[in-house]
Amino acid sequence: MTTQETLFSKIIRKEIPADIVYEDDLALAFRDIHPQAPVHILVIPKKPIPKLADAEPGDHALMGHLLLTVKRVAEQLGLSNGYRVVINTGNDGGQTVDHLHLHILGGRHMNWPPG
Ligand code: AMP
Repeated sequence: MTTQETLFSKIIRKEIPADIVYEDDLALAFRDIHPQAPVHILVIPKKPIPKLADAEPGDHALMGHLLLTVKRVAEQLGLSNGYRVVINTGNDGGQTVDHLHLHILGGRHMNWPPG
C-alpha cells in the first residue's frame, strides 16, 4: 500500500481550506469543491488509506466508523428524505484522489444506474 501525500492530507492538516462540516479523532467531513448535488460531502479517514482496496483487517473499526459518520453527517445536514453514498475505487471506479473518501450526495433524487 502506498501512502502518498494528497491534497486531502493537506485538508486534514488545515494547510489548505475546506468547508468542514464534521471532525473527530478518526474522520473528517467537508463539502466537495465541485458539488454534483445540492448537498455533496466527502467523508474521509484521517489515516491515509489510498483506496477501499487498500483497507486491511486492522481497519475494521475505522471502516465502520466512517459509515456511522456518513449517517451522522446526513442527519446533521437534514437529509431526512434519503441520500446516496458512493466510494469510487481505482481507475475503473473513477477515483481521482488517492485518499479513501465516501461521497454523500443528497438534496435531489438520484438516478440509477450511475454513469
Ligand atoms: P473521486 O473522483 O471519487 O476521487 O472524488 C474526488 C472528489 O474530490 C471530487 O468530487 C472533487 O470535486 C473533490 N475535490 C477535489 N479537490 C477538492 C478540494 N480541494 N476540496 C473539496 N473537494 C475536492
